[in-house]
Amino acid sequence: MPMALVSSDSATDGRSTQVPAAWRALRIAVIGAGLSGLAAARMLADQQHQVSLFEKSRGCGGRAATRRAAHPSGQPSEQALRFDHGAQYFTARDPGFQRRVQSWAERGLVAPWGGRIGAFDGTEFTPAAQETTRWVGVPGMSALGRELAAGLNLRLETRVMPPRWCRGRWQLSDEAGTDLGRFDRVVVSAPAPQSAELLMDAPRLAAQAACVDYRPCWTLMLGFDTPVPLAFDGVFVNQTQGPLRWVARDSSKPGRARPARDAAVAGNAAVAGNAAVAGNAARGEPDCWVLHAEPGWTRKHLNDPREQVEAALLEAFAALVELAGGSLPRINWRQSHSWLYSLVETPLEEGCLWDPALGIGACGDWCNGARIEGAWLSGEAIASRLLAAVASA
Ligand SMILES: Cc1cc2nc3c(=O)[nH]c(=O)nc-3n(C[C@H](O)[C@H](O)[C@H](O)COP(=O)(O)OP(=O)(O)OC[C@H]3O[C@@H](n4cnc5c(N)ncnc54)[C@H](O)[C@@H]3O)c2cc1C
Repeated sequence: MPMALVSSDSATDGRSTQVPAAWRALRIAVIGAGLSGLAAARMLADQQHQVSLFEKSRGCGGRAATRRAAHPSGQPSEQALRFDHGAQYFTARDPGFQRRVQSWAERGLVAPWGGRIGAFDGTEFTPAAQETTRWVGVPGMSALGRELAAGLNLRLETRVMPPRWCRGRWQLSDEAGTDLGRFDRVVVSAPAPQSAELLMDAPRLAAQAACVDYRPCWTLMLGFDTPVPLAFDGVFVNQTQGPLRWVARDSSKPGRARPARDAAVAGNAAVAGNAAVAGNAARGEPDCWVLHAEPGWTRKHLNDPREQVEAALLEAFAALVELAGGSLPRINWRQSHSWLYSLVETPLEEGCLWDPALGIGACGDWCNGARIEGAWLSGEAIASRLLAAVASA
């Protein structure tokens, strides 16, 4: 196994990372298995370091998430419903990230979403410009995180407490006080407010993380008996008033279960030019939609009873469909979710944060660009910083 010399970064406040006498692989903890943490963990593990990836949830991918639900028919033989209730799709503008996405596409992990996207300004619907490819995970957004974690030393359902600096290394434990080990380097990849807490023993980085705000987002997931009669699969709602910001037909994304059998609706969809609905209407699956609330509205209603929020979002969606000349079909499944952290308000644009003296750093969408592409590149950036520090030692 190729060995690395542990960094002898100079101390800035009397503390410095321990310098072992011999070459060896570093023990590195990555906290958080969202896409930034996965990017960092993969890159560091590829260099033969001993990487431990800790994630508090039951699965990987973080906010690139998919909610699965049993089919409303109750038949175990039926395909489960899937809703991308967090990130809806992602774009790739950086050439390096474009190559990465292409390799994921070749492995079948992602595919372009060819859905018809529109905008609604309160009075009329207009098709949105297709500036760039909209990529989605297949068969759901979370598939990407799951596949990228394969082969990594991953501990799920492990909420890491703030790492403690202890005799030149980082001591990690979980919330039950279980010892998770001592590490030469730590990468924190949680959303900024959570990172600020985790970086307690690296106050300079904690202070930077504490400055970053997120938009909250109430989300409503809906399954309909028959396709919703909208000629669009995704609509940016740009009304000055009202709770909705975005609505999307998840069933129109590649690899998803397709909408229910309804010849009339299929015919109408074909007339309206919606090939995704028309072409798949004979398959007999619910038409799955995800509704995202407007951030200001969410802030105001964050602590409202769930039923009240669901009713308001549903009413706004029904009104939208009526303005398009239709009416909502029967709902056969619904669930809501409130995201405290959805999109970053103002990212730091630092790429990543790294304290060379302490051997700890942070990455994530809040360091770089606010979205999936930025999160991934931030994970790669911190791995590069860490590896460069090791190489130059
Ligand atoms: C509603 C919504 C809509 C969005 N829409 C889009 C979109 O259309 N396009 C787009 O590109 N992006 C979108 N985003 C943003 C995108 O999802 C994020 O930018 C990206 O997924 C962030 O990745 P990350 O790795 O930085 O953070 P995360 O995905 O948040 O990953 C951080 C991980 O750290 C874990 N964690 C936190 N604390 C601990 C701890 N103490 N111990 C262990 N684990 C911990 C969390 O459970 C999580 O899995 C959206 C997000 C939301 C919520």
